[in-house]
Amino acid sequence: MESTHIDRHAGSIALVTGGSRGIGAGIVRRLASDGVSVAFTYSSSEDKALQLVNEIESTGGSALAIKADSASADEVRLAVTKAVSHFGPLDIFVSNAGILTRGSIGDLSLEDLDRMLAINVRAVVVGIQAAAATMNDGGRIITIGSVVAVRTGFPGSSIYSMTKAAIVGLVRGVAIDLAPRAITVNNIQPGPIATDMNPADGPHVDMLHTLIPLRRYGKDAEVASLVSYLTTKDAAFITGASLTVDGGYSA
Ligand code: NDP
Repeated sequence: MESTHIDRHAGSIALVTGGSRGIGAGIVRRLASDGVSVAFTYSSSEDKALQLVNEIESTGGSALAIKADSASADEVRLAVTKAVSHFGPLDIFVSNAGILTRGSIGDLSLEDLDRMLAINVRAVVVGIQAAAATMNDGGRIITIGSVVAVRTGFPGSSIYSMTKAAIVGLVRGVAIDLAPRAITVNNIQPGPIATDMNPADGPHVDMLHTLIPLRRYGKDAEVASLVSYLTTKDAAFITGASLTVDGGYSA
């Protein structure tokens, strides 16, 4: 039987935004263990970013940490340039960096709105534009949206949910635009995943457990495994899709 999994990854080059912690770090680790050379961005967690590079290099992998604030379109573009000049043209771009500022619709400031739009939406568009411009044909673009695009579930999440719903439409359109180059474009919508953004001992944990049929938070590795699969040849016919990894939260 053809080993499509191994064939696809070995020697590939990836850029992951927001790879210093949480889901992004899980994606960086998984791709590196698949044999991918992985560049990733961070904005403030330099120690964690450098630790992750050390961890990957100590097991024979290749990684590069790039300081780039997703709130700046220029920094996102420059991160793509740095990744390409270090490793070569991208095969995989994962737009993961995101922020959640909670607040009821009457309480959120214009600054909160603009910052969530800049990081959760504009940076995704700009990153995809820059990555696609230099990506090898047959490449893979993956966004990390959220299950809140399907089911918000909690008060204080309207703007965050709006930003993640925007990604669903973006991915549909970009998938069509890049199809002639056989670049697939998909959106992963995690449910509650234990990270700094959504700690497994946070205030909503008891209620969340009752809303998740599998009765637990997910792990960053369980999002990363879908990223890994989407980069294989086995997933070459999946594009424009938004796929949930949520323990049944949206079921
Ligand atoms: P964390 O807050 O745990 O980690 C966020 C990561 O993104 C960090 O590496 C952080 O780097 C980076 N980041 C944040 N802001 C910026 C910025 N302005 N520029 C560059 N990098 C930045 O979040 P999660 O891992 O939980 O979330 C990752 C993605 O998954 C987000 O898009 C989030 O919306 C989504 N998601 C998360 C869910 C969850 O339950 N955890 C559920 C559904 C979706 P640094 O520390 O250097 O700033």
